[in-house]
Amino acid sequence: LARPRAFQLTDDDVAAHLEPPGEGDDKYSRGVVGIVAGSATYPGAAVLCTGAALRTRPGLVRYAGTAADGVRASWPEAIVTDARPGDAGRVQAWVVGPGMGTDDDARSVLAEVLATDLPVVVDADALTLAAREPELVRRRSAPTVLTPHDREFERFGVEVGADRIGSARRLAADLGAVVLLKGNATVVAGPDGTAFVNATGTTELASAGTGDVLSGILGALLATGTPPAETAAAAAHLHGRAGQVASERGPLVAGDLVRRLSETVGRVRGAR
Ligand code: AMP
Ligand code: MG
Repeated sequence: LARPRAFQLTDDDVAAHLEPPGEGDDKYSRGVVGIVAGSATYPGAAVLCTGAALRTRPGLVRYAGTAADGVRASWPEAIVTDARPGDAGRVQAWVVGPGMGTDDDARSVLAEVLATDLPVVVDADALTLAAREPELVRRRSAPTVLTPHDREFERFGVEVGADRIGSARRLAADLGAVVLLKGNATVVAGPDGTAFVNATGTTELASAGTGDVLSGILGALLATGTPPAETAAAAAHLHGRAGQVASERGPLVAGDLVRRLSETVGRVRGAR
């Protein structure tokens, strides 16, 4: 049986997601991202995710999580709100999960975000919660992108075998969601079987917080309404390139990805 092929994006393909603003653009037309991440225990996840979103496309980032002080101190550009996600004001895509915890409050915020008709990136703790209640994802009609590493993926009851694309396709079809399965070989699968393999990155990315940066990048790219599977592949590509740029002179920490993201975007654009 012929296996449907998987696509591999180039810098040039990804540059199309990173166009500089046009004369008629304003902060709203460039995409408004909403972020629910972090907690008193893990404020860093909120800071990394918010920073990554801001550094990808500085339209507007709203932060609606429980680590507001940390985000305010690090990112004055973000609009910090204590409103519930449903009342947070204009948002065009949500990122939910990094460092948010898995208690009842976290569960209820996740349910609220998933009840919107906006694209949602489900990462980290939100994956743990969604694996317990996959219906929250299945009943959505707007795009959902799950960004699990192997252990988070397997919480959904599907094993990650040697055929990572096949595994991602199975979960994507089951949930009606895009699945970005992270690791040394990151793959993306859409519910229709469309698949991408990522060609960028470095083993230096195997370090705490780098996933929080990926979900922030992805939220920012999704906020302009581009097709979710290809957009997820573009985010993985840009994140991997940022890892390469940040480790050119030595080891990296996740914050270095954020610090070098603007330069990385410039270099990817330069490939056009
Ligand atoms: P997380 O597990 O959520 O912290 O995300 C880790 C990030 O680092 C993902 O983007 C992975 O693809 C990437 N990563 C982790 N381990 C490796 C590795 N050995 N080689 C390349 N990338 C990796
Ligand atoms: Mg993670």
